[in-house]
Amino acid sequence: MKLRKTAAVAIAVLALTATACGGESGTAGDKPKDPTGGKEAPKLPTYTVAKDVKIDSPALKKAQKAGKITFGAKNDQPYLGFEDTDGKRSGFDIEIAKMVAADLGFSADQITFKTVDSGVRETTISKGDIDLYVGTYTINDERKKQVGFAGPYFMAGADLLVRKDEKAITGADSLKGKKVCSIVGSTPLQEIKKPKYGAETVELSKYSECVQQLINNEVDAVTTDDAILKGYAAQRPTKLKVLGKPFTKEPYGIGMSKGDKALRDAVSDALEAHIKNGDYKKAYDATLGLSGSEFTEPPALERY
Ligand code: GLU
Repeated sequence: MKLRKTAAVAIAVLALTATACGGESGTAGDKPKDPTGGKEAPKLPTYTVAKDVKIDSPALKKAQKAGKITFGAKNDQPYLGFEDTDGKRSGFDIEIAKMVAADLGFSADQITFKTVDSGVRETTISKGDIDLYVGTYTINDERKKQVGFAGPYFMAGADLLVRKDEKAITGADSLKGKKVCSIVGSTPLQEIKKPKYGAETVELSKYSECVQQLINNEVDAVTTDDAILKGYAAQRPTKLKVLGKPFTKEPYGIGMSKGDKALRDAVSDALEAHIKNGDYKKAYDATLGLSGSEFTEPPALERY
């Protein structure tokens, strides 16, 4: 119960200071800098919805019958997967969901987003509670035993978020005896628990809770993917910084039911098409690009 309450407070605090995600301006004392540098904000692409889609996928057929498709996503990752106080979702992963949905025959208003945090992704997908999952989800062999992946559509790397005045922590090799917060069921937590880092871990269920603990001086650092951390740092530029020294590779995939190869292929086709026609770059520039992440060409898709 206590954990839930902390999470709710952390999300509320972040929502208050959110900027570019929903287009609102910052309110709290630590005013985020204008991510566009005063220039007109890049516009999100629009996606043409495919008609008469026929794919031999159980999940897709069920979604077609229901007239809606359900995506699992994050709700507390600014510029990636964020839900504002009005329930509006924004971010790069949300755009990836919309472009894929369009190619599967669903418009944005036929998408239902469900918040699914890192620790429960595999079980939620396996139970069939969601059709697809787009939420900073690293493809790896361990997870492939339980779920299927289309992608990768983005390459991130685990990094460290620290307080702006931090001097002692300069990279993953200076964490001995330090309190590092990360998320249950995430790959960066798995990595940082290795004895070679000598860190003391604090394991929570939402990233926003870790960020709040860092601001409150309860932990010394937060570790997860650089793309996620840059979003938090962009919101609190006078309080937080990302070290910029990634120490893992985190290729992002779209998760789905393990045996559904037809859906996997269709989602890979959709990613390929939107990378090719420029939607991907446009979506990036209008979301993640605003948090200071340089655009890099997406990694090659792995089809299996
Ligand atoms: N990409 C990492 C993972 O899939 C960390 C981010 C997250 O927890 O979503 O575990």
